[in-house]
Amino acid sequence: MLSQVTSEQLYEEAIKHYVGGVNSPVRSFKNVEAKPIYFSSGQGPIIYSVEGRKFIDYVLAWGTFILGHSDPDVQKEIIEQLYKGIHFGACSPLEIEYARLIKEGFRTIEKIRVLNSGTEAVMVAIRLARAYTNRRKIVKFSGNYHGHVDYLLVKSGSGLATFSIPSSKGVPQEFIDQTIVVEYNDFDTVEKVFEEHGKDIAAVIVEPVAGNIGVIPPKNGFLQNLRQITKAYESILIFDEVITCFRNEYGGLSNQYDPDLVVLGKIVGGGMPIGVVGGKSYIMDLLAPEGQVYHGGTFCSNPLTLAAGIATLKKLKNQNYGYLEELAHLLQEGIVNIKNRYNLKLNVNRWGSMMSIFFTEHEVNNSQNAYNSDRRMFAEMFRFLVTKGVYLPPSPFEAIFLSFSHTSKEINYTIDKIEEFFMNVSK
Ligand code: PLP
Repeated sequence: MLSQVTSEQLYEEAIKHYVGGVNSPVRSFKNVEAKPIYFSSGQGPIIYSVEGRKFIDYVLAWGTFILGHSDPDVQKEIIEQLYKGIHFGACSPLEIEYARLIKEGFRTIEKIRVLNSGTEAVMVAIRLARAYTNRRKIVKFSGNYHGHVDYLLVKSGSGLATFSIPSSKGVPQEFIDQTIVVEYNDFDTVEKVFEEHGKDIAAVIVEPVAGNIGVIPPKNGFLQNLRQITKAYESILIFDEVITCFRNEYGGLSNQYDPDLVVLGKIVGGGMPIGVVGGKSYIMDLLAPEGQVYHGGTFCSNPLTLAAGIATLKKLKNQNYGYLEELAHLLQEGIVNIKNRYNLKLNVNRWGSMMSIFFTEHEVNNSQNAYNSDRRMFAEMFRFLVTKGVYLPPSPFEAIFLSFSHTSKEINYTIDKIEEFFMNVSK
């Protein structure tokens, strides 16, 4: 019976059981004025809908599947572990291999803890920073998203940006009173904030490359300056590399800037739920059972997750990231050529294998420019491309991702279809 069913029928049924028919808001496609597609399988760069329609996937579970869908080596490890045992709620040898692989990539990390989501890992990182410094205030950047942590749901990216929610209802004002929001890439304001509140600032948390308000790379010196000022005021610098970890190299930006704490997610779980917090021992050792900062979890370091993560990381060690860069460059160049040919007001922001198309003539280097881009045009393009078998993120504020399984064939097809869209628009 299920094989006959359509996405539309499933959605009609789903809205009876789930709020808005979904379990995470951006999946609703509401902001691009479309109805959700129900997917049933994925292979490499392709995902298939329940109707058997085929899509080139540029979402990749929000940046998770850097090897593409259903990677056979990752599947094999998950299946082997599945037969050995799904979970023990206790220590397993996989934990040792996993930690070594993470630390080979992230050379500034001394200790890690493996949790179930990026949100959880951010919560623990902030708790550690507050405990270590004995201070309360947190500096975050407008348009950066750090999961649905109460006190960071202020001018947040991702779903909140998509649905224009400045801060979440249900979060008491007292919870966000200690959160100071600064525009991304605006170090002058960070300096002023530190002059005024420096002695109360426990941590600065930043996405080193913003990926939740579309892709916005850091300005020259921005991350370096954050490192210096947090050192000078003895505050903790937290890099949220949930998206950027292992995306453009075997490791991340932390190796260059040496933050005190790093949060990882997505890719490091190989497609299974994960979040990792890591950092210097002098902070990490504050965690229970050594210290007085509590964190625990029934499903932490789940063996299936670790098996998928290990298989992914092992494979990434032997991948040529230059390939991803070339492929992403091809896509960017193709779109820029279309822009020039049709005299369009758009900008492609790219950091390696993640990118965004903003419909604006202005350079997009902060969240305000991103908000001011033409979202309706993005929505129209999304809907057109879906009919042609190209699945972009259903929001201009979510990044386009590439995987090692994509080839120039998919990229060239996508460029052709984007051109077709603009040919129709300009008629
Ligand atoms: N931090 C960043 C930078 C993210 O992009 C996300 C999720 O997209 C999170 C944290 C939260 O991770 P999770 O969705 O696994 O809770």
